Amino acid sequence: MTDFQTLGLSEPLLRAVEAEGYTTPTPVQEQSIPPLLAGRDVLGVAQTGTGKTAAFALPVLQIMSRNRPQGNRKIRALVLSPTRELAAQIDERFSAYSEHLDIRHKVIFGGVNQNPQVRALQKGLDVLVATPGRLLDLINQGHIDITHVEFFVLDEADRMLDMGFIHDIKKVLKLLPKQRQNLLFSATMPSSIANLAGSFLHNAVKVDITPEEITVDRIEQKIMFLRKADKRRLLVKIIKQERVERGIVFTRTKHGANRLVKQLDQSGISAAAIHGNKSQGARTKALAGFKNGNIPILVATDIASRGIDVDGVTHVFNYDLPNEPESYVHRIGRTARAGRTGIAYGFCDESEAGYLVGIQQLIGKEIPVDLSHEFHFIGAIPKPGQKAGKIKDKNAPKKKQHQRNRSHGGGGGGGGGGRGGGGGRNQSRGGQGSSNPRGDNRSGNNRNQRRRDD
Ligand code: AMP
Repeated sequence: MTDFQTLGLSEPLLRAVEAEGYTTPTPVQEQSIPPLLAGRDVLGVAQTGTGKTAAFALPVLQIMSRNRPQGNRKIRALVLSPTRELAAQIDERFSAYSEHLDIRHKVIFGGVNQNPQVRALQKGLDVLVATPGRLLDLINQGHIDITHVEFFVLDEADRMLDMGFIHDIKKVLKLLPKQRQNLLFSATMPSSIANLAGSFLHNAVKVDITPEEITVDRIEQKIMFLRKADKRRLLVKIIKQERVERGIVFTRTKHGANRLVKQLDQSGISAAAIHGNKSQGARTKALAGFKNGNIPILVATDIASRGIDVDGVTHVFNYDLPNEPESYVHRIGRTARAGRTGIAYGFCDESEAGYLVGIQQLIGKEIPVDLSHEFHFIGAIPKPGQKAGKIKDKNAPKKKQHQRNRSHGGGGGGGGGGRGGGGGRNQSRGGQGSSNPRGDNRSGNNRNQRRRDD
């Protein structure tokens, strides 16, 4: 069995890793650390929860401490992250791993006063963790110089593109020196990411931690079929019956998250919402309350949840099933962390059966159905031959629909055809086939219903 020593890490880093209680490297660490230490570029397909932060932070720290130039500190490693939460958590990991090293690091992100960030920058840094907007802002104001960067990390690249950061990333790339080492991590590998990676990675080592490895057996998954109108009552019931002390509820929209927090409150359940419209202060407060146990339920949208890394989450509720199958894997990965067990409930209403089909195709298995509740509704069960993707509601008022077609080259199996692998557009309810699609071929080509939430 590989241990951290055999990966070539230096003694101060081994001590720090030991203090964190890590005994065995995760697959992404095992595959990324040696090539990064050897100076290679790495292209990693891995999600949060796989240990990817240490996979880049440990080699970055080792390389930074190998040859510290004389004189004032200059930013030699730059880590770009899409969300403030994830950026803050990466920086927190840098603190833990650099405990025994003379390395200075700092995180900067928008939504807060820039002055403390500017002061820290003026003192000199070795490692900067940043969200793209604030980084460019401070570069333009002359507070940041990235022309000495030796190591560039682009984390959660797919999320970056979804959030519209592509132009910012290109601007940053132009400002970086040509000679440098690069790392790109992404949960999925659509062609847009493959193209971006091709534009700045050189002869990269590819590391692929596929979703099956993340959907760990320790997570018990259940699906419950019910009407949309009954979801709130079922949620309250489970939270009370199972005395949930630390659970995350995922909604599709920010508005839905806010509304649910109010409704839970009315039912005597303390909850806080975390999403992109909340101020940084409110997000930090919600997360802190959740971490210290004062707030048992966090209601989150997908983008805001990126990087929520809280140990001891026992329950994840997919209150709205995600329209992107990959999000399901990411969401349920919030539980069963650090070797513990967890349970993930999925609430599937009459409009979400197609999303369930897509999820089951991606994870390659059926999620067991839980019938032990009073709201069971057969109308929400996928119909025979149900295809993955959105179900068109014939009665819905006509609205302008924003559809984007995304190709998908990696992670999800390369968009193979075969049973149940529909195109995801204009899905009809009906047709032939199994009423319980097994989804044992992992067709990943149903991504044309993405929705920008945060
Ligand atoms: P990440 O995917 O980087 O967000 O990491 C997910 C969680 O796994 C964090 O809580 C890390 O502290 C933890 N972790 C990272 N590497 C290991 C390891 N080798 N052994 C145990 N836990 C780890």
